[in-house]
Amino acid sequence: MGWCSKPDKASTAAEKKGCDKKVGDPKQPCPLADPNIVSIGWLDGADDKEVATADQWVNLPKEDKWVNGAEIQNKDRLGLKPRLKVKFDKPGSHAFKVKLLAPTGTDAYTDTEKGRNANFKYTEDEKSYTTDADGTKIIDGDFALVAGGGYKFKAQAKDSKDKVVKTGDLTTKRLFYYVEAKMTGLTSVLSSTAPVDTEYDKHYMVLKKHSALSIAHQSNIGSDTDTDTLSGNVDTAVDADATVKPTKPYLLTVAYTDHLAVKHADVVVQSATVDVGPGKPKVVIPVTAAGLLSPNTVATRYLWHDLVAGESWFVEAKFKPDGGGESTIAADKVTHKGTGDYWNEVEVDVASLPAGRGKVEVKVNVVDRMRGGLALGGANQTCVCTRAWWSDQPDAKQECTIIHEIGHKVGMVANGTGALPDKVATHYSGKGHAGDHCFKGCPDGEASYSTSANLSASQCVIFGAVNSKNAFCDNCEKAVKKLDIGSGW
Ligand SMILES: [Zn+2]
Ligand SMILES: [Zn+2]
Repeated sequence: MGWCSKPDKASTAAEKKGCDKKVGDPKQPCPLADPNIVSIGWLDGADDKEVATADQWVNLPKEDKWVNGAEIQNKDRLGLKPRLKVKFDKPGSHAFKVKLLAPTGTDAYTDTEKGRNANFKYTEDEKSYTTDADGTKIIDGDFALVAGGGYKFKAQAKDSKDKVVKTGDLTTKRLFYYVEAKMTGLTSVLSSTAPVDTEYDKHYMVLKKHSALSIAHQSNIGSDTDTDTLSGNVDTAVDADATVKPTKPYLLTVAYTDHLAVKHADVVVQSATVDVGPGKPKVVIPVTAAGLLSPNTVATRYLWHDLVAGESWFVEAKFKPDGGGESTIAADKVTHKGTGDYWNEVEVDVASLPAGRGKVEVKVNVVDRMRGGLALGGANQTCVCTRAWWSDQPDAKQECTIIHEIGHKVGMVANGTGALPDKVATHYSGKGHAGDHCFKGCPDGEASYSTSANLSASQCVIFGAVNSKNAFCDNCEKAVKKLDIGSGW
C-alpha cells in the first residue's frame, strides 16, 4: 500500500527511482514505489537489536534471573515464544503475514504426542499483521516453538506483493542446574562429572553445575526412613546456599552416598534331613531367597553384614526333629561361610545337640539388592552410591548412575502417557527392576531383566541396572530430545 506522487513523465530517472515526496497528488498510487518488506528477525535483548541465528532456551521462563551472562545473554532467548521484528522500507501501515516454517534438525513430534502435550505443537497458523506508523512491527507472544531440543525454527514473512523474507535458525535447547551433595567421609566420590554434561549436551540439555554441598554421613540408605533423612539433609543444604537455592525449580540434586543396600529380613533357610548330636558333622546350608522385586526368582543371596552398625545377619536357629517339636540352637553355633564379603552359606555346629534326626533351620537377614542410585522422593533429588557390595564404586559406574537417575528426573524412559513423548520402542516397566527402563540389546518380552545375561547384553544407560554404559541408545535419545522439562522440579 502507501501513496506517493504521480510520476513526472518528463523524468524517467525519477520514475525509476520511485517517487518524489515533495510534489504531486498524494492520492495517486505508485506501484513502483510500493513499500517493500525488508526483513524479519529474532529480537535479541532490545527492540532495535536482532540476531540472525541463536539458541532459544525453551524450558526456562522469560525472567531476568535466568539471564546468566554465558549461554543466556538476554530475556529474549528464554521461553517458548521468541519476539520477532518485521521491517518495511518505508514508514506507514503495511500489511503482511507471518508464519513459522516446519522445524528441521531432529525428529518431528507425532500426532499422538501433539495430542498429549500442547508444548509439542508449534504455532502452525499464518497470522496477519499491519506495521506501525514507522513501517516496522514487533510481534510478541504470537508464535510458540516446541519444548524439545534441537529443533531449528525459521520464521517467514510475506508482504502484499508476495515478497518473502525469512529469519535465520533459532535452535531450541534446554538448560538446568544441578548440585552435588556429598556425604562427609566418603573416599570414592566421582572425580569428574564431565561425561554427564557431555551426554546431556548431545540431546540439547545443557547442565550447569554449582559448587558442591556437604551433607551428613549415613552408612546405608535402605529403608524409607533412611531415604527421608537423606532427602531432608539435601533440602536443608540447598536452602542454606544463597547461590544454589535461587536456581530452583530448575535445579536437580545429586547426592553421593555410602551403600544403597536393601535388606531382606527374616529369610528362613533349611537343611535337608540330617543327623545331629555328639560327633555329628557341621551342617552347611546355602543361603537362597526369592527377590523382593522378583518373588518368583529364588537365587543365591549374601548375608547382611557390615552395612549398618549394630545390624547382624543372624536372627535365630532351630533344630526340628522328624517327630515334631523344636529346639533352639545357640547363636555361637552358627557361622557364615563364603568368599571375601560374599557370605552365601551358614554353617551350624550340631554336635552339642542331643542325638536326633531332623532339619536345621536358620533365620537370617540377607542383601536383597544393592542399588547404584536412586531418584529420591524429593522431586528434584537423585543419589548415587560410592560403595556397593562392600567395595568402592568405580567412576564408570557412578557416571552411568548419575546419567541414569537424571534421565528418570527428565522423564525417561518415556512410556507414552501424560505429557511424555510416545513410548520408547525398547521400554519396559518393572520386570525385576523398579520403574521405567530400556532393554535395548536384550531380548524383547523377558519375564525378568534382572539377570546377568541381560545386564551384559544391555546397551543403554537407562537399562534397569548399572551397566557402566554412558549414553542413551538410539531409541531413547529421540525421546530425550523431545521431552518437556519446562515445569522444572
Ligand atoms: Zn532406573
Ligand atoms: Zn534406551
